[in-house]
Amino acid sequence: MSIAGSFTLPSSPLLSRSTVDRHESRRLDVARQQSLWPGARVLLLDGEGRTPVRGGALALRPSAEVAAQPPVDAVLLGESGDTAYWAAPREHGERVAGEHWRDLRGCGADLDDTDAGLFTTAVAVLRWHDRAGFCAICGSPTAPRFAGWARYCLRCGNEEYPRTDPAVICLVHDAADAHVLLARQSSWPPGRFSVLAGFVEAGESLESCVIREVAEEVGVEVRDVRYLGSQPWPFPRSVMIGFAAVADRDAPLRPADGEIAQARWVSRDELRAALAEGGWTHREDGSPGSAVLLLPGEISIARRMLDAWCAARP
Ligand SMILES: [Zn+2]
Repeated sequence: MSIAGSFTLPSSPLLSRSTVDRHESRRLDVARQQSLWPGARVLLLDGEGRTPVRGGALALRPSAEVAAQPPVDAVLLGESGDTAYWAAPREHGERVAGEHWRDLRGCGADLDDTDAGLFTTAVAVLRWHDRAGFCAICGSPTAPRFAGWARYCLRCGNEEYPRTDPAVICLVHDAADAHVLLARQSSWPPGRFSVLAGFVEAGESLESCVIREVAEEVGVEVRDVRYLGSQPWPFPRSVMIGFAAVADRDAPLRPADGEIAQARWVSRDELRAALAEGGWTHREDGSPGSAVLLLPGEISIARRMLDAWCAARP
């Protein structure tokens, strides 16, 4: 029997999987990039965040189909053995019959560890390039450098790096470790619930953010804030940092006006039954289904946290 609230995440969240070598020295070594380019594989990404997939794997392009040298707007994702992996905008390749262009939310759970890591990084970095075309200091155009891992200002030289916005996500349970606190955002359909989450503010620690967000969203004070794990969430540029915390179940719930439509404590048995029904993604057709509690799909760290909490006790 575990002590109250001692659950941990049993394995990496699906988008935290990664196998390639991302050492910074590779991004600075242009001679190495050029020597490995003939054997490189390239992930194409369109403006909707989609890449070609065939048979449950990424349909990476041989570099020869893309260019004679790494394109200036391509990003070196990493290396594995003698193979370099790059990402490039969709314009660098042709569409091929028999493959499907899919986004990360839709197919990330089906990919193996290497492909999941490549796709996640490609989405995060290429989307940043799309929005970083002008200098934050002087407003002049910027250009990529360091194999896509920085941009510099063509006028003042200011250098910028891919941005990630931290967000906390917290599984709140009661002192008896028998119930979890779930909430439904006002913009979600009836029945859809998840754990609480929010962006970290400037000048704020992660733990303080957990305490503030839970208080703001449902009016409850939490304690014993404990780190669980994290996963990149490049929609468009977050990393979700997962925590567990404890709250009193008799404290009144006060959902934030306009933000949280409903908040409720859910028992382990009810949560297990809902998890067995599958995630939101299985019900996006709009069918009402029989469940009154729809939970996040398996690609989210929220789902991983709920699964782990359920599994920690008989
Ligand atoms: Zn500038």
